[in-house]
Amino acid sequence: MLREELDAKQKRRIAMAIKIAHFPVVKTVEEFDFKFQPSIDGKLVRELATGHFIAHADNVLVFGPPGVGKTHLAIALGRTAIETGHSVLFVTATALLASLSQAHAKGHFGDQLGFFAKPKLLVIDELGYLPLERATANLFFQLVAKRYERGSILLTTNQPVTEWGQVFGDETIAAAILDRLLHHSHTLVIKGESYRLKNKTRAGLLGRDR
Ligand code: ADP
Ligand code: MG
Repeated sequence: MLREELDAKQKRRIAMAIKIAHFPVVKTVEEFDFKFQPSIDGKLVRELATGHFIAHADNVLVFGPPGVGKTHLAIALGRTAIETGHSVLFVTATALLASLSQAHAKGHFGDQLGFFAKPKLLVIDELGYLPLERATANLFFQLVAKRYERGSILLTTNQPVTEWGQVFGDETIAAAILDRLLHHSHTLVIKGESYRLKNKTRAGLLGRDR
């Protein structure tokens, strides 16, 4: 095959995989301003962008308060994962847990679990905004256990691990989930001000310098 045909084929594959991944918006690593968020290990982000962590079924945990770029990085790394040949699915924690609960109630939990276990990288965005029922936390545990050492999870959360007992409504389930997520993992802890509010903070809208 000619080089151009190969390139065109590759581009079509990437475009199709991006559709299947269901990213909510387009974000890239290049667009991310690392200078604005010096707490982020840029070297680690670039290493993660090679997709090697997916070949090892490692997880990535992104911690930080609202507006610091967690979702941006999650989408951007989802895209680079696709570009390096891996299947990806992006889902918010709320949507993921709602579909697992619904499937459980309707008696086809196994199929739904299989669906979320399939992509090489599952991006789960915004865990921790709402506390979960213990039964829901247990369904989440089953997903994490099913993917453990088989497929990567990239998870973003506004809650430090010390609060996960609260998030999952049960310390034991939280510990079991964390144990598996952290075993082979890379963590990005973002400490800094919200990118969304940066101009407003500067304009004095928030009443004080943060
Ligand atoms: P979080 O998920 O942590 O709440 P987001 O990733 O949604 O934050 O970021 C909020 C907005 O600010 C998005 O439009 C995102 O693209 C942008 N943003 C955040 N941090 C940066 C950054 N360091 N460089 C460029 N854009 C950023
Ligand atoms: Mg977010």
